[in-house]
Amino acid sequence: MTSKPKLGQNFLADPAAAYAIVQALGDISAGTVLEIGPGKGAITSLLAARAGHLVAVDLDASLAARLTSEYAMDDRVEVLHHDILTLDMAGLLPNTGGKLAVVGNLPYYITSPILLHLFEHANVIDRAVIMVQREVADRIAAAPGTRDYGLLTATTQLFARVENLFTLPPSAFSPPPEVYSTVLRLTFASRLADLGIDRLGFIKFLKESFAQKRKTLANNLRFAGHGPENVAAAFRRTGISSTIRAEALPLEEAARLYRDLQDSEQ
Ligand code: SAM
Repeated sequence: MTSKPKLGQNFLADPAAAYAIVQALGDISAGTVLEIGPGKGAITSLLAARAGHLVAVDLDASLAARLTSEYAMDDRVEVLHHDILTLDMAGLLPNTGGKLAVVGNLPYYITSPILLHLFEHANVIDRAVIMVQREVADRIAAAPGTRDYGLLTATTQLFARVENLFTLPPSAFSPPPEVYSTVLRLTFASRLADLGIDRLGFIKFLKESFAQKRKTLANNLRFAGHGPENVAAAFRRTGISSTIRAEALPLEEAARLYRDLQDSEQ
């Protein structure tokens, strides 16, 4: 039987998968690892045995308390009872700097907000190995022009290179979720500088671009309040077809259009 437990609590019950997830992080012996939603510790125990410093963050008070006492004697492991969505990730790093390796079998009910929170902290993250619902993984890794390409794809690919590592059936979890799960590795490498764009402005532009899937990109931009003259001129000057939809536009083209529109609005 499948079910939807509270806080997305489907615990990993496949030791080989837990091992593969930790292996996919690479060498973690020197730096800080952030585990999102450690739960009962299926992945945590493997991380604790290898990481220089591990911070495991769970919103469930009793699970966090259980792990806290389990690792009370290990001063390399810190368990925080906290909402990952309000966690300041930069504050987890030592004064000497470095970047985080992030890992987690994510609570699926907040996958997109967690990803957006990671991207807000992109400058302090080196890589992330995360388990997400298979359909979400397909969206994150999609190519422009395909059905799955959308706001989540464009935003993710702006901040990271995406690799699809493996997929697990519901039976790998207890209780089993209703969906298949896929492990992705995100290697953080921001494209903001090479595309010549600013983070906040471009993310706003992407949100406007994908606001209504059935509308053309030009219509979405006009609907978001950009002047019709400016929108038409931006398409003309960049040579991008004015009938294109946002999902067909590669990131480089979207950035060109954004820069042009921004210039004419200044
Ligand atoms: N890592 C464990 C495993 O693989 O067995 C548990 C994964 S379970 C899919 C997701 C975990 O995220 C749960 O332990 C849940 O309590 C926790 N969680 C849910 N919402 C959270 C939030 N907003 N911040 C931090 N942890 C959260």
